[in-house]
Amino acid sequence: MEQRNVIITGIQGAGKGTQSEILRDKYGFKHISTGNMFRIQYACGSSLGIEAHKYWSIGALVPDSITISLLKRHLSTDKNLLDGFPRTLPQAQALDDMLLETDRFITQVIALELSDESALQRIEIRQTCIHCGTVYGSAKQPALPNFCDICTAPLITRADDTTEKARTRIATYHSQTKPLIQLYSARDIVHHIDASLPPEQVAAHIVRALKL
Ligand code: ADP
Ligand code: ZN
Repeated sequence: MEQRNVIITGIQGAGKGTQSEILRDKYGFKHISTGNMFRIQYACGSSLGIEAHKYWSIGALVPDSITISLLKRHLSTDKNLLDGFPRTLPQAQALDDMLLETDRFITQVIALELSDESALQRIEIRQTCIHCGTVYGSAKQPALPNFCDICTAPLITRADDTTEKARTRIATYHSQTKPLIQLYSARDIVHHIDASLPPEQVAAHIVRALKL
């Protein structure tokens, strides 16, 4: 089978999670979100989850060693969609090495483009399902306010979605994660997508870019 190891990257609030859910449900990707994994690990009370929470709860990146070891356990053999990983150069190198062990490589990178101001506006109003991680916002509102359409669990505002922490995360994105786009551009595998459009339109552009 043709391998697909796709990275979806972009500023906080650009819609990585929303688009990943669409690609998972319609095209059978394994959605690998390090952010979701950290939240689940914390909810379960694992030692890794409690350690990682010290960082993400203040809007900082979790150390590379923790993040890389967690990711390693979840990479599948085909059709990986990496959401929120890599975010630093050491993570990008570790990912290349992990894939190379089984003769694989990153096939495409989707770079979602959104301004800082729009991102902050979206983050301020978004709500997340505590159970399944589905994200709601102005473009996708729950049928019953404050409860998830999919699993009926309550929706919350993520602890790191306050304006102050969101600003910290966005600054870190610009300094640490955005430079990775250059690395992948040199391989000619980056697709820049306008993320200010409604989710279905963004999804249509991604599907075309990935030739799905
Ligand atoms: P967002 O993209 O809005 O920051 P995520 O759910 O992807 O949301 O990530 C939430 C938090 O989890 C991040 O702010 C960070 O602390 C931590 N995290 C997720 N992925 C990584 C990673 N690859 N490296 C370090 N920390 C990460
Ligand atoms: Zn849910």
